[in-house]
Amino acid sequence: MRNLKIVQIASEAVPYIKTGGLADVVGALPKHLRLLGHDVRVILPRYASIDYNRFQLHPLLSPLGVWMGNSEEWCAVHAAELDGIPVYFIESNQYFNRYGLYHDTEFRDYQDNPRRFGFFTRAALQLCRDTGFAPDIVHAHDWQTALAPAYLKTWHWNDTILGAAASVLTVHNIAYQGVYSASHYDYLGLQWENFVADKFEDNGRINFLKGGIFYADMVNTVSPNYARETRTPEFGHGLAPYLNNKGDHYTGILNGVDYDHWSPESDPLIPARFSAADTSGKLACKQALQERFLLDVDPDIPVIGVVSRLVAQKGLDLFAQTVEEMVSNMRVQFVILGAGDKSLEWFFGGLPARFPGRIGSYIGYNDELAHWIEAGSDFFLMPSRFEPCGLNQIYSLRYGTLPIVRATGGLDDTVVQYNEANGSGTGFKFWESSSRAVYYAVGWAVSTYYDRPVHMQKMIHSAMDMDYSWERAALAYEEVYHRAIANKQALGG
Ligand code: ADP
Repeated sequence: MRNLKIVQIASEAVPYIKTGGLADVVGALPKHLRLLGHDVRVILPRYASIDYNRFQLHPLLSPLGVWMGNSEEWCAVHAAELDGIPVYFIESNQYFNRYGLYHDTEFRDYQDNPRRFGFFTRAALQLCRDTGFAPDIVHAHDWQTALAPAYLKTWHWNDTILGAAASVLTVHNIAYQGVYSASHYDYLGLQWENFVADKFEDNGRINFLKGGIFYADMVNTVSPNYARETRTPEFGHGLAPYLNNKGDHYTGILNGVDYDHWSPESDPLIPARFSAADTSGKLACKQALQERFLLDVDPDIPVIGVVSRLVAQKGLDLFAQTVEEMVSNMRVQFVILGAGDKSLEWFFGGLPARFPGRIGSYIGYNDELAHWIEAGSDFFLMPSRFEPCGLNQIYSLRYGTLPIVRATGGLDDTVVQYNEANGSGTGFKFWESSSRAVYYAVGWAVSTYYDRPVHMQKMIHSAMDMDYSWERAALAYEEVYHRAIANKQALGG
């Protein structure tokens, strides 16, 4: 297969800026594509919260003129390098010189999000033109950059630099579609004949993701199971018919995980290191975790960890409804790390005072604590209503922290159900989305901990042996890129 020129346009990427799994993917995929011989560039917005000095950004280009539908706007471009990959940052005081990525401190969407990300996407394409980088593939991620495939087909089809580029759109979470007032449509410059139901129009509003799905030469999501689920009304969030229209141009690729950052053998953030061959360090991590969260320090009580955005998707309201009952009926401890929905923040933030020694929590975003919880817990709970891929359960497997998950999306793809007859499996799955089901699944895990320790050990080893590395995922993306190129050529250009 020939080497490709690939540009990744995204709203977040590790290590620069992260709110969720999207950043992990955009941070890791490029380096693995590069290892396969491809020439990859990454383009991100320059948010105020990106640390200029720490990441050694330097000015690249100023000004960059960007045509929007009804105006020309200006920005500057900064650059950095990550594992040999050029990373560009679009700077616009008007749009990105604020702390949050998508919402303010009260979790309210910024009113100008459609303009911010429409502008960013156009600026990214313009940057390719101005630097003479003619990509074979423009890879867009989620609604924020979903207009890239549309711009390629409606603006750049005849362009010497971008005219030959095929587009791939990755849907990391179909619940976030970027639906905004049609009053922004002129600014975005998408042409009114495309404001129709199978492209951008959605009940009189603009739907970024829907338009991107229509125009992209290939669309994928982040697990095979979620690809199947999103083709149905229950999980498609209104877009199932449009995904089905794509036929086999819509597929699922399970995310890899970055074992450079998430391996207990080498993790610099955790209190002690361990491996499948020698798990003794895990006990030290458990003790340190219990101490740090002011739990009763006792190696024999199972600790269940939660690290999550606190949003409805994650099903933690179901856990909230039953956690008191669990603490009264089971000998168990919980450690919860998360931020998001204010009522859940209040609830989980208040639990340690109500159940001292039994429940610890930290409300906020804290990478180090996320690593501590993965390393020091015995189980990891994810009762998600839906889960496109889910990374935390995959990290948990590697740290020998058995996942307790609802069998949906990528959770179902990555966790193998425990078999009580022989101790096989890597975690505990339940199907019903209810607090009862969460209660019983946790009870099953806790009783296994106390009553079947041999099975626990067997499962921990099976879990730590699982391999969801990026090498496999990068090869799958490479195939999707070639299919996108073929699909574009079949369209005649
Ligand atoms: P999503 O992308 O839906 O948030 P994933 O499981 O795919 O869910 O990825 C979540 C990522 O964000 C993981 O790397 C997880 O460790 C991290 N994360 C989520 N919330 C927090 C938090 N409060 N503090 C630290 N890391 C967090």
